[in-house]
Amino acid sequence: MEQEKYKLIIIGSGITGLSTGLAWTKIYNAVENPVLIIEKQTVPGGCVSTFAREGYRFDTVQIIPDVSDILEFYNIDIELVKFDNFYARLFLADPKNKIARIFPIHSELEKFKDNLIGFFPDDRVQINRFFNYCSKMHAELQYLKTEPRLYEFPGILFRCPKILANSGKTYKEFLSGFNFRNPEIYEILDTFSTFSGLSGNRCAALLTACAMITTLNGSYRTRKGFIEFPVQLKKKFEENGGQIMLNTIVEKILTDEGKAKGVRLADGRELYAENVVSTTDTKLTFGKLLGYDVLEKADSGYEKKVRELRMSPSAITIHVGLDDKIDLRGMGFDCGYNVLTTGRKTHEKLFDDWSKGNFILSDEDFHCGVIAPCLKTGGKPNLIIRVVPVAANNWIKLRKTDIDAYNKEKQKFADFYISKVEEYMISNLRKHITFIDVASPATYERYLGTPTGSNYDMLPVPNNFGRKRLKTRTPVKNLYHPKFSHGIWPSMQAGLQVVDMISGRKIMNGNASFKKRR
Ligand SMILES: Cc1cc2nc3c(=O)[nH]c(=O)nc-3n(C[C@H](O)[C@H](O)[C@H](O)COP(=O)(O)OP(=O)(O)OC[C@H]3O[C@@H](n4cnc5c(N)ncnc54)[C@H](O)[C@@H]3O)c2cc1C
Repeated sequence: MEQEKYKLIIIGSGITGLSTGLAWTKIYNAVENPVLIIEKQTVPGGCVSTFAREGYRFDTVQIIPDVSDILEFYNIDIELVKFDNFYARLFLADPKNKIARIFPIHSELEKFKDNLIGFFPDDRVQINRFFNYCSKMHAELQYLKTEPRLYEFPGILFRCPKILANSGKTYKEFLSGFNFRNPEIYEILDTFSTFSGLSGNRCAALLTACAMITTLNGSYRTRKGFIEFPVQLKKKFEENGGQIMLNTIVEKILTDEGKAKGVRLADGRELYAENVVSTTDTKLTFGKLLGYDVLEKADSGYEKKVRELRMSPSAITIHVGLDDKIDLRGMGFDCGYNVLTTGRKTHEKLFDDWSKGNFILSDEDFHCGVIAPCLKTGGKPNLIIRVVPVAANNWIKLRKTDIDAYNKEKQKFADFYISKVEEYMISNLRKHITFIDVASPATYERYLGTPTGSNYDMLPVPNNFGRKRLKTRTPVKNLYHPKFSHGIWPSMQAGLQVVDMISGRKIMNGNASFKKRR
């Protein structure tokens, strides 16, 4: 039995785990305060990866906001390319007439606002009011504390009135306060909530409005593929003295009298640590690695919350390789995301289906994101079609019981969505396709170890957001769970937050978001 004593063991080398490790090595000497990351895969990165098939290069993730402050803090250089024209385009499809109205979303807030006013001049006042309000609310984030101390509450009450006023609202409730006259504005602004896998009817207002401002302050992708992120973070972590074990599964979080003391690996070894940070899926961390019985003993309220938590939906991603005769740039695909949708009602309907474990392919109701990464990263022409929300259970079951039927179902799904893209966005797409690879919820379940195939961990609904979110500091002493990520930027923040918490505010003085001191 190995009895090494680490100061910190981190489970998972996704962006949250790597950021946690790096933050640790920024403030502690890793020889005196050893830190170990344990990862079940042979490569680090979790959700963030790049893979090659038949000469085509695909990223698993597509777009990030400005993370330069954190990269600078970690002393890491990653070449990022900005979407300097459009952040996204919304294709609002009209299935009756088989046409789509296209709304461009500029990559800069002022340009997007002006463009929206250009489209809807009658709503000029409301549009201005909306963006001013969201910008001010976003600016209030800097005053939030992760675990506010009693004396800090008055400051937060005074400085964050907009955040407090809206923390219990859905995005839909929030938007309705601005009384836009033109219903299409709601459709356009909903684009920002669908990135969390939820329609505006359900998504927390604060998350959506603040994510919108963050992304409109600049959106990027990596020049060399998103795998650069975990590769560079790991390299720096190791240079700083951190240790990482790849291809190693954590089977159990070990506790003693309500206190975390280490982990047991699948090969039976036990490794001991003063602190344990788990960055794996919430249900996996508490249901399997820790055990609900241990959690209940520590705090039955916390245990109930975890059990009742709804995880975010899963997705289907269709990776498409194309010949070099297609002119994606000429068709305006050089932007972060293209959303093809039959609108707000559809997303809500898909969500209802998802809740019941179903997914319906219908000519009247469809919703997907279409991205052409090759236009920023080079390489052979490719497209990614991402469909969210998709329920996982049937896919996971089918893959286990009947692989042929599973593959046929994937093909059917891909055919349907490729035909929608062809009908509304890229005519003759099919004749340019040379390769298709489909990732289903079963792929995500297998690769990420998420029991529900969830893509964004916990569902960001108001009763699990802001003050109501599951606490990072778990009731099991010295065990932390910095999840609720919904993106690369928040995952990097989560890593910084948890080390700030463990170290007694040594990184950002208890602030909820990192800002480099200038
Ligand atoms: C398909 C997809 C597309 C996305 N697109 C974007 C995007 O365009 N932009 C954006 O900002 N965000 C995007 N996201 C979200 C973003 O990628 C995630 O929020 C973020 O990367 C989560 O990081 P994490 O470290 O918290 O979790 P993960 O990346 O899930 O990392 C957890 C790690 O734990 C490991 N692990 C699990 N179980 C064990 C175990 N028992 N023992 C050891 N290790 C274990 C896993 O292998 C994994 O590496 C996307 C997510 C998905 C799934």
